[in-house]
Amino acid sequence: MKYLILMLLALAGWWIWRRLKGRPPAPPSRLPPGEEAMVACSHCGVYGPVSDMLRDGDGLHYCSEAHRRLGPG
Ligand SMILES: [Zn+2]
Repeated sequence: MKYLILMLLALAGWWIWRRLKGRPPAPPSRLPPGEEAMVACSHCGVYGPVSDMLRDGDGLHYCSEAHRRLGPG
C-alpha cells in the first residue's frame, strides 16, 4: 500500500512537470535592436528565427521540410 501511494505521487509529479514543460513559448512582444524576428511554423506553430525557417511560395514559414510539404495545419 505504501508503494502504491509513492507511485501515485511520482506519477502526479511527472504529470505536473510535463504540463509545465509542454507550455508553448510566448512570442516576444518587442524585438531588441539586432535581434532576429521570430516566426511561427504554419504547420505546428513552433517559433524560430526567420533565417532558420523554410519559406514557401505563399510567404508562409515552416520549421522543417516535412512540415513545408504537409502545408498549413
Ligand atoms: Zn513545424
